[in-house]
Amino acid sequence: MATDCIFCKIVAGEIPAAVVRRTDRLVAFRDVSPQAPVHILVIPTEHIASLQEVRDGRLVGDMLIMARDIARDEQIAENGYRVVLNINRDGGQTVFHLHVHLLGGRRLTWPPG
Ligand code: 5GP
Ligand code: ZN
Repeated sequence: MATDCIFCKIVAGEIPAAVVRRTDRLVAFRDVSPQAPVHILVIPTEHIASLQEVRDGRLVGDMLIMARDIARDEQIAENGYRVVLNINRDGGQTVFHLHVHLLGGRRLTWPPG
């Protein structure tokens, strides 16, 4: 655990979050500042700063599959949704603990800003 990391604190239960799914390796919770009717973050319980630091690609695969399964539970799968990874400064990453955004429940625009 990184002591100064807000997502590590959510994993540890030190900061409250609306958790929607949890396994021993992953936690999914609602974004505090939702950009769509459904906006959920899927994170590893282990502190990994960004995609650049991932060693085992199966972890990212598991994150995507969890996002997919949550999309089904949130009933946005059929209409469609988006999964996003922001990486470092130009990618718009603000929290340096790996996370996948799951966004849906409205028509999303493309390209992103
Ligand atoms: P990033 O910009 O790093 O890809 O996304 C970080 C996301 O984390 C943002 O969408 C932001 O709203 C969300 N976030 C930041 N702090 C908290 C928090 O304390 N709780 C929750 N639930 N989400 C947070
Ligand atoms: Zn962390």
